[in-house]
Amino acid sequence: MTTFDGPGGKELLDALILTAYLLAAGFAMILLAAYHIHLKRRLAEAKLRLADAAFDSSAHGMMIVNAAGKIMRVNAAFSSMTRYPAHDAIGAEARFFASPRHDPTFFERLFRTIETHGHWEGELWAVRRTGEEDLYHMTVSAVRDRDGHAANYTLSFIDITERRVAEQRIRHLAHHDMVTDLPNRALLAERTESAIEHARRDGRPLALMLADLDRFKDVNDSLGHAVGDELLRRSARRLLATLRGADVIGRQGGDEFVVLLPDLADTEDAAHVATKLIEAMRRPFELGTRELLVSCSIGIALYPQNGEDFATLMRNADTAMYAAKAAGRNCCRFHSADMNRRANERLELEGDLRRALHSSGLSIMLQPQVLLASGALSGMEALARWTHPERGAVSPVQFIPVAEDCGLIVPLGEWVLREACRVRAGWLAAGLGEAPMAVNVSAVQFRDPEFINMVKRALADFALPPALLELEVTESVIMAGFEQVKGTFDELGRMGLRLSIDDFGTGYSSLSYLKRLPVDKLKIDRSFVIELPEDAESRAIAEAVVGLARGLDMQVIAEGVETRAQADFLRDSGCQGAQGYLFAKPLSAADFAARYVAAPDSPLQRTA
Ligand code: C2E
Ligand code: MG
Ligand code: MG
Repeated sequence: MTTFDGPGGKELLDALILTAYLLAAGFAMILLAAYHIHLKRRLAEAKLRLADAAFDSSAHGMMIVNAAGKIMRVNAAFSSMTRYPAHDAIGAEARFFASPRHDPTFFERLFRTIETHGHWEGELWAVRRTGEEDLYHMTVSAVRDRDGHAANYTLSFIDITERRVAEQRIRHLAHHDMVTDLPNRALLAERTESAIEHARRDGRPLALMLADLDRFKDVNDSLGHAVGDELLRRSARRLLATLRGADVIGRQGGDEFVVLLPDLADTEDAAHVATKLIEAMRRPFELGTRELLVSCSIGIALYPQNGEDFATLMRNADTAMYAAKAAGRNCCRFHSADMNRRANERLELEGDLRRALHSSGLSIMLQPQVLLASGALSGMEALARWTHPERGAVSPVQFIPVAEDCGLIVPLGEWVLREACRVRAGWLAAGLGEAPMAVNVSAVQFRDPEFINMVKRALADFALPPALLELEVTESVIMAGFEQVKGTFDELGRMGLRLSIDDFGTGYSSLSYLKRLPVDKLKIDRSFVIELPEDAESRAIAEAVVGLARGLDMQVIAEGVETRAQADFLRDSGCQGAQGYLFAKPLSAADFAARYVAAPDSPLQRTA
C-alpha cells in the first residue's frame, strides 16, 4: 500500500495537490469562458433585437437590399408610405417602386457614387401601389463585409412631397398675385428685364402697358371686396385670353394690370393689342345676378424710345395711363415726352393750389336755381373758382381732380363750404329767407371721418340754419360703401340739411340704394339736357328721371339749361327746377346779391 510517509511520498503528495489545483483552475477558466460567451451572445441578441425594433418602428421608410440588388427586408413605415406590403416588396428589385420619370442614368450615377463613397443621398420620385407619386429624400449606405466588399445596402426614405409643395407654394406666392394668380410686379420686372435683353440683341421694339380698370374702386366699395376680387379674377382671365402666347400679363396691385409685349413687329402692334384689350373689357361681366360694366384705360411705353429699363418704362406707362384717364377713360395712350411735361405741370399745379388755399387765391361764384313754373329763385349753387397768378382762371374741372388726388380736396372743400355758409348767412340778415345754398362735396371729402363735424362747425360759426345748406354729391359717393354712406346721409338728414344727387344719370347708382337714402333732390345731368327737345333718347331719360323723382318723393332740377325750348320741354315734363345760362351764369357774390337779394326796400326773390 502506498503511503506518503516513505521516501518520495511528500513529492507525490505535492504533485497531486498541484494537479488538483490546476484542474480546479482550468475548470474555473472554462466556466468563466463559457459564461463570457453566453454573455456576449446575450448582448449580441439584445443588440439585434434593438436594431430590429429600431428598423421596424422607425418613422422613416427603411429597406435592406442584398449585394445583388434584391430587397431582403422592408419596415412597416416603408409599407405604409408606398402601400406595398412586405411580402410584395421582398425579393423584388430595389428600384421597383421608383417613378419612370427617373431615367436609367439616374441609377447608374447613384450606384457609382455608392461604390466609390459607400453612401448616396438625394431625392427620389416614387410611385405608390395606388399610383400616386411622392417625393422622398433617400439615403443609401453600403454595409461592407470583413473584406471590404459591399454585402448589403440599407436605404432610408422620408416623404418630402408636402414640404416640397409648401416650398413651391411659397416660391409661387413670392412671385404671384394672391387674387388673380398672375405674376406680380417682382416677377414682371424680371421678365421685362430679360425681354429687354433679347430686344436689345435683336434690335426690336418692346412694349410695356399699364391697364387700369376704370371706376373699379366704386365696385369694390359698394359691392364689397369679394365681388371686387371676383371682378379682378374675371378681368384677368379676359385680358389673358386676348393676349398672345409670348405676351406676359401681371397684376401690380389695386386695379392695375401690367402687360409685356416682348416681340412687336412694330409699334402699331401695341396699339392694336391695347385696342383689343379695351374691347374685351367693355363687354359686361355677369357676377351672380348682377351685370357689371367696367372699362379700362391703357398707357403704353415703348422700348427703347420711352425707357431702357423696367422702372423707367413703368413710370412712363403710368404717365400715359393717366393721360388716357384724363382723355375720358376707356382708351389707350402712348407715352410721349409731352406727357412728362404735363405730369410735371400737374405737380406744379398741386403746389400752386396748396399756396392758393392759404393766400386767398380761391373764391366762389354763385349760380341761381329757379322754379320753371314761375321763374322764382329756388336756390343757388356755390362753384369754386381759382385765379392762378400766371395762368389766370383755372376751371374746377381741372383743379378739383388734382385736389382729390393729392388730398387737398379736404381743406379746399372745407374752405368752399365755410365761404358759402358765410355768404348765405350774410343774406339771411338781408332778408333772403328760403332759398338754400348748395355746395358740391367730393367723394373723398365725404369719406373723411371729420366731415360731419366740419359741417356742424361751419353752421354754428355762421349761425346758418341747416335747412339753408344743401350738399350735392355725385352717384360715385353712393357707390362708395353703402352702409357707411347711409350712416353719414342719415346723420346729415337728421341735422336738417338738404341732400341732392348731382349729375344724376351719369353714374350707375342702384335705385334700391337711392330709395333708402334721405335724398331731397335729383339734378338731371347737363349731357341729357343739351340735346333736348330734339333727341328722343335724351327726352326719354329726362322724363324717366322726372318720373323717378316723383315716385321717390324727391324734387328734380335740370342742369345746364341754355335754351327756352329746353326749359319749356322740361317744364311740360314735370321738372320743377332749372339751373343754367338761360337764367344766369355763375355770378360773384356781389352780382348775385345785386340781382337776387332783396335790398331793404325792394320785393324779395325777384324773378330772373
Ligand atoms: P356741377 O356741380 O355739375 O356744376 C355745374 C357746372 O355746369 C358748373 O361748371 C356750371 O358753371 C356749369 N353750368 C351751369 N349752367 C350751365 C349752362 O347752361 N351751360 C353750360 N355749358 N354749363 C353750365 P363749373 O363751375 O365749371 O364746375 C364744374 C364742376 O366742378 C361742377 O359741376 C362740380 O362737379 C365741380 N365743382 C365746382 N366747384 C366745386 C367745389 O367747390 N367742390 C367740388 N367738390 N366740386 C366742385
Ligand atoms: Mg354741382
Ligand atoms: Mg352737375
